[in-house]
Amino acid sequence: MGRKQFKTEVNDLLNLIIHSLYSNREIFLRELISNASDAIDKLKYLSLSDEKLKGFAFDPCINISFDSAARTLTISDNGIGMDEEELNNNLGTIASSGTKKFLENLGDDARKNSNLIGQFGVGFYSAFMVADKVTVISRKAGGEDAFQWESEGKSTYTVTPATRAEQGSTIILHLNKDGEDYANRWQLETLIKKYSDHIAYPIYLEYDQEHYKDEKDSEGNPVKEVEHKREQINSASALWTRSKSSIKDEEYKEFYKNNYSDSEDPLFYIHTHAEGATEYTTLFYIPAKAPFDMYYADYRPGVKLYVKRVYITDDDKDLLPTYLRFVRGVIDSEDLPLNVSREILQENRIMSAIRTGSVKKLLGEFK
Ligand code: ADP
Repeated sequence: MGRKQFKTEVNDLLNLIIHSLYSNREIFLRELISNASDAIDKLKYLSLSDEKLKGFAFDPCINISFDSAARTLTISDNGIGMDEEELNNNLGTIASSGTKKFLENLGDDARKNSNLIGQFGVGFYSAFMVADKVTVISRKAGGEDAFQWESEGKSTYTVTPATRAEQGSTIILHLNKDGEDYANRWQLETLIKKYSDHIAYPIYLEYDQEHYKDEKDSEGNPVKEVEHKREQINSASALWTRSKSSIKDEEYKEFYKNNYSDSEDPLFYIHTHAEGATEYTTLFYIPAKAPFDMYYADYRPGVKLYVKRVYITDDDKDLLPTYLRFVRGVIDSEDLPLNVSREILQENRIMSAIRTGSVKKLLGEFK
């Protein structure tokens, strides 16, 4: 079994992630779920367009399980999968040109300044913030063979033959001391809801539930039973990605009330899909009553930013001008990179086009 060296940029990225993003390490789960969702997107697309995979039938899903005694967390998908070469290329080098550029553009000072990079999502390697070993078992759709990639995140990795019943990838995190809290049902549920609720495929969480049976043992103690459960956690429907004509007025209002802690219907909503130089969707709501903190300097902004349905932030006051701070809703961009940071957002041309378009749309509707 050959041990292989990571390309130097992977080492750079690993160090950067582990040292700079540590305080925000929970994002690893969002990153891995987002990769799983991309892998399913790819297979879905090929099952429609590729000669070899046309008609490939599968029931897309992402499965998450954990073992708190063994300190492992497993994220599994039935998407496109990777063959041996792809495991080497995708996980041994930095595939994403965006990440590469980001690294190149960071000066040495910036690398040391953890605040600057605090908001980055950096893909697969973020797993090493919570794990001291990561195992990936993958089988490419249309192929027979499976391979296992494994690394301790310290400059080398191995790729060896493995077995996997169907196409897709299984990522096993051997959690480190600081990561062991993630092998926990409630933690995982909270994080999936927080970051990945709108992923378009079902995300299942497996867990064991103990309960007492209606009988007693020889010493008169109640008998416990462990039941293995699997439950879908995300709502798997990004309302704003559906066509306007398919959404009922009631659904728009429910979405608002569920997501923006308001018990009243909104005064008004506007749902827009923009195509052209920049592609994005916005769904904005005007609350019936002014938010209580509207006149506070530290008001909470009401607009959430998503990139391709993946949650990025709900705490960016620059998504809309301050005078529109009472507006609630969602901006979902197809063009921004997932690893967009707050600093980048401020100067980003795509973001400023979205902002201009959104303001125009909103002001056009106001009387
Ligand atoms: P990014 O997702 O930004 O490209 P990552 O470091 O997260 O970067 O992943 C690198 C590459 O590894 C991805 O582009 C993809 O080709 C591959 N990959 C990662 N996770 C999976 C997965 N679950 N299934 C298939 N391919 C994957």
